[in-house]
Amino acid sequence: MIKYISTKGQSPAVDFESAILAGFAPDGGLYVPDRIPEIASTQLEEWRHLSYLDLAFEILSLYIDRSVMPATDLRELLQTAYAAFEAEEIITFHPLASSANTQVVELFHGPTLSFKDIGMAFLVHLFHYFLARRKEYRTLLVATTGDTGPAAAYFSAGKSTLDAWVLYPDDKITEMQERQMTTLPHANVHPVAVTHCPEGGDDLDAVIARIFADKSFKAQLNISSVNSINWGRIMMQSVHYFYAYFQTTTRIGEPVSMAVPSGGFGNLCGGSLARKMGLPIRKLIAANNKNACLHRIFSERKMQKEELYETLSSAIDILVPINFWRHLYFVLDDTPIDEIGNWQDTFEKTGEVIFSEEIFAAYANGFLSHCTTDSEVAGLIKAVFEEEAYLLDPHAAVALAAIDALQDKLEGEPLLCFATAHPAKFPEVVQAALGKSELPVSGGHPSIEAAKQYCEKVYRCDNSYLESALRTIMERRWEMERE
Ligand SMILES: *Cc1c(COP(=O)(O)O)cnc(C)c1O
Repeated sequence: MIKYISTKGQSPAVDFESAILAGFAPDGGLYVPDRIPEIASTQLEEWRHLSYLDLAFEILSLYIDRSVMPATDLRELLQTAYAAFEAEEIITFHPLASSANTQVVELFHGPTLSFKDIGMAFLVHLFHYFLARRKEYRTLLVATTGDTGPAAAYFSAGKSTLDAWVLYPDDKITEMQERQMTTLPHANVHPVAVTHCPEGGDDLDAVIARIFADKSFKAQLNISSVNSINWGRIMMQSVHYFYAYFQTTTRIGEPVSMAVPSGGFGNLCGGSLARKMGLPIRKLIAANNKNACLHRIFSERKMQKEELYETLSSAIDILVPINFWRHLYFVLDDTPIDEIGNWQDTFEKTGEVIFSEEIFAAYANGFLSHCTTDSEVAGLIKAVFEEEAYLLDPHAAVALAAIDALQDKLEGEPLLCFATAHPAKFPEVVQAALGKSELPVSGGHPSIEAAKQYCEKVYRCDNSYLESALRTIMERRWEMERE
């Protein structure tokens, strides 16, 4: 039976259900499986023709003990969770005419139009499944840089086991993203617009971490988290790497490289996991904007928190690539887990860790990285649209910019450019990049249009008193619910 241990190494091993419902491990580390299953290439061959959800079933089954969740329940959960996706195959492929051997992988066909739907659909349904079985109830507390929040709100909405508090930095997300959270009519979703967050989503994460550290308050309100520290999202996010590889190759072993617009390293962590399981991805490309938190790790051996820059690709304006700790656990076979915990503690205290040459060689193997400017992003959106009438969102453009810049390190293998959001979530950026007075039709989406016509429901709070204000309102709401 697979057990889950903490990347800080100071928490007892737990089963899958406990790891999911806890979010963070009690020592502040991230839960990881105590061993990673390896998939033989014959098995990979057999998986090649599976549908997305059948493939997800096979992969997830390796991490979920049948005694925790029977096979029929897992299949049913997957069917329910992904019913709201507009593409039956979940993710789709778009070959680019202007870049030889490059395909865009569209990861944004879920109900809130970003790749966050992929992990969140599964995780929130899983929470609901476990809680309904235990006859329990949880308060969810999550922060967003624009896309996690809408996905968490959408999937929690109306679920009787969940009450969801969704925090966002007021002026750092788009109006479309905000409306995806504030126009839901459900009584169990509470969006909180937070003003004055110089570090964006990272400011909100800090408040959440403090609330989580108050064990008695956390226990009193049954608080948990569906942010990307939750193992359930990472595990599910490995599936699209397998699926994309199978769709792009004719046999296992052919080289394919994948560029991923990244911030928190949650998406790439799924790629790192897939590779650890045996998927022969040639290069994983960490594509950053000016907030080069991952580029520093993969080019300078340095994890370092700097000031936050606001960019056109706002969903990756992130300073702390929290899931990088999991990647270290996957690849550093000979390093005791306590050592990873030490780095994590050092980073939390000082905002900086410098890795040795040897550790760097191990973790950077199979990775490339690049950071891109806003003007390159805008230029690419315009160029690709003019050449082939295909509209990139600003995050896909960050990934494509990395592919362009790294050509001399690539070897002509098929390249996959991950598109993590629908351009309709960023109409102002797209329109300005195109230099047009109107958005092209492909820059809109019916769900975004519909949300423009609904009332908004939102709490508003200043970052300087967020923690106490949240405690008060969450507690009052909890007491009302219990009456
Ligand atoms: C969250 C997000 C990302 C970054 O994903 P990480 O897992 O944090 O690296 C990229 N693009 C979009 C559109 C996102 O919403």
